[in-house]
Amino acid sequence: MQTVKNFDRIGEENAFAVLGRAGELAAGGMDVINLGIGQPDFPTPENIVEAAVRALRDGHHGYTDATGILPLREAVSADLYRRYQTEVSPANVLIVPGGKVTMFTAILMFGEPGAEILYPDPGFPIYRSMIEYTGATPIPVPIREENGFAFSADETLKLIGPKTRLLILNSPANPCGGITPRAEIDKLIAGLAHHPHVAILSDEIYDQMFYDGEKHVSLLSYPEIRNRLIVLNGWSKTYAMTGWRLGYSIWPDELYNKARKLAVNAWSCVNAPAQYAAIEALTGPQDAVGKMVAEFDARRKSVVHLLNDLPGVSCIVPKGAFYAFPNISLTGWLAKDLARELLEKTGVATIGGPDFGTLGEGYIRISYANSQENIARALGRIKTFLETTQSGS
Ligand code: PLP
Repeated sequence: MQTVKNFDRIGEENAFAVLGRAGELAAGGMDVINLGIGQPDFPTPENIVEAAVRALRDGHHGYTDATGILPLREAVSADLYRRYQTEVSPANVLIVPGGKVTMFTAILMFGEPGAEILYPDPGFPIYRSMIEYTGATPIPVPIREENGFAFSADETLKLIGPKTRLLILNSPANPCGGITPRAEIDKLIAGLAHHPHVAILSDEIYDQMFYDGEKHVSLLSYPEIRNRLIVLNGWSKTYAMTGWRLGYSIWPDELYNKARKLAVNAWSCVNAPAQYAAIEALTGPQDAVGKMVAEFDARRKSVVHLLNDLPGVSCIVPKGAFYAFPNISLTGWLAKDLARELLEKTGVATIGGPDFGTLGEGYIRISYANSQENIARALGRIKTFLETTQSGS
């Protein structure tokens, strides 16, 4: 059989491989603590689950409009207005099966041989994977610890050239937990005025997960780029709905119909009862979100404290999402070797930094979407391991 070359270039998200291996080890009797996968360990709030069940009972069993049902698109607009005081027409909202689908669509729309796409490194691995799939040239934008894991406007702008088609930004960020401050975003947006040919994909999937008063700034707040801004968001993280496969994107008028056509070709529409649940998530009580974020904040503090107590490890305080990205370079371990050994020998799942890009060497990602008790147990095991095991052995 002969498949197209592009498929040989598709990458992976190693978090899923680690999840699989952790499952195997657990099935074999090991007490595995998973600090690898990026999903809230909370159940979806009951009122949201009930809305889906009700939708099924009410007979919402069929296809919906490929763009998503209007009341849901209206609810997304109202939610964005409530949170950012910015007008987004429901006609620019596309309901999609998961946050990933927006990056998939946007990268397919702009990527082809000869084009360049800028993406964060370390960053969510699917950006690079999809860029390579299209044959476009991936241009990494460095995300540096010394910069608090925020992106630098100057560094980003310098990487833009005549072939740049798309700039991917992510704040609050996976895997480093950084939040790019408003002043830096202002500077970037001002600089982008000199590059009107560049579209922007802002991945805001963690937009409600910020701590210490460092608020998330939505790129929707900048009217001057609205005609070339694509926003990725969804329910997976905020409402603990990763398995529902539900997300939304905001597209400028010029691109909306292209994205809609891909939807018609690929997935027809999002699962109908999930769309009704999504309305309830946005319009119902929001206290579950606040409680979850407060719990993540408490865990964040304890995980950072425990990480900084490990030999050879230092960790800056992450400002958003639910990840810590400790620097492990002084342990003498290569990051992926350390992550592998921690899982195999101690039953603690983490992800090696290089799985998020070349600049991830020297770091591992810890997802603190696990109980405080498990986090303390896991960090205790890591401590014993580092104290008693020679690096690389
Ligand atoms: N964007 C980022 C930065 C993520 O970390 C993730 C999931 O981990 C996604 C998008 C994808 O979200 P979803 O599970 O809704 O596809």
